[in-house]
Amino acid sequence: MSAIDVHAHWFPPEWLDLIEAEGAADGAKVGVNKKGWKTLTTPGAVLVQNFQPDMVDLEIMISEMDKAAIDVRVFSLTNPMVYWASPEFGLKMSRAFNDACAAAHVKHPTRFLGTIMLPMQSPELAVRELERAAKLPGMCSVYMAMHINGLNLDQKSYWPVYEKIEALGLPLSLHPVNPCGVERMKVFHMRNLIGNPHEAAIAAASLIFGGVLDDFPKMQVVLPHAGGSFPWLIGRYDNGVATRHELDHMKQPASAYLRRFYYDTISHSPQILRFLMEMVGADRIVIGSDYNFDAGYPRPVEFVDTIPALTKAEREQILSRNAMEVLKLKERFRKIYDALK
Ligand SMILES: [Zn+2]
Repeated sequence: MSAIDVHAHWFPPEWLDLIEAEGAADGAKVGVNKKGWKTLTTPGAVLVQNFQPDMVDLEIMISEMDKAAIDVRVFSLTNPMVYWASPEFGLKMSRAFNDACAAAHVKHPTRFLGTIMLPMQSPELAVRELERAAKLPGMCSVYMAMHINGLNLDQKSYWPVYEKIEALGLPLSLHPVNPCGVERMKVFHMRNLIGNPHEAAIAAASLIFGGVLDDFPKMQVVLPHAGGSFPWLIGRYDNGVATRHELDHMKQPASAYLRRFYYDTISHSPQILRFLMEMVGADRIVIGSDYNFDAGYPRPVEFVDTIPALTKAEREQILSRNAMEVLKLKERFRKIYDALK
């Protein structure tokens, strides 16, 4: 049985080198922690990012994939991404990441795919980089944070980016960064435990209520962390559409959009995953690992096997079929498709 992990993080050495060489002008501080790992502090970010070798070195990552029975990993950046910098340096960092992903795919064509990082602090530059990066080998999705420097995803200035994403037929993969409310979540790791999954509820609401999913009906959206709190608030969203004047413009209930999203498996609760499957359909669930953070799964396939009453068909859908579908492996990455099928 093949397994495709759509939510895994990689910090390419080329991306780190660029920030180390040129990031200071944009306020980045590169340091070294007690373990000898490089660290990065960026303006406005609460989280200091550590660069552990198993999230930088591709050879280590391949051996970790083999141990976890993962055939293909889809790489993305995570905190701090690129929005903290000037548009020009954001573009430069995006290019460095996208080029590194493409090179990783060329070197390991059946193991790695990449998500396209964009300098969304300038939608104009983002469209330009999207046009360029979509032509690179191995790029299977567009990556975006759940807000751009505090702006929700329904800003009209982002419409040209969505238009291009839809025209290219790529899915949009979302991820939290700098969640709101951190001033009250500094203790007990609440920034991650609560802040990150709540960001998905805001992002999904912005895409639904803000008209993005209506105006771009073919665009598919992949949510991390099993959709965070979004699926569990859907009844409130529907009630809001039925009762509130702020949502008078809605032509259908919010729940009509549940199946516009894919949801990864990172819930840490087999029961919740089963509920989610009943709510959105087993054909909308894909594996995530959040490699290599302790918020994720070292063995994402083993988690799937703990879902109550999992059928063989559901297992196959979640491990690989759904990812093949949303990433269009058959049409766009035939070599991987043939190796997995
Ligand atoms: Zn993640």
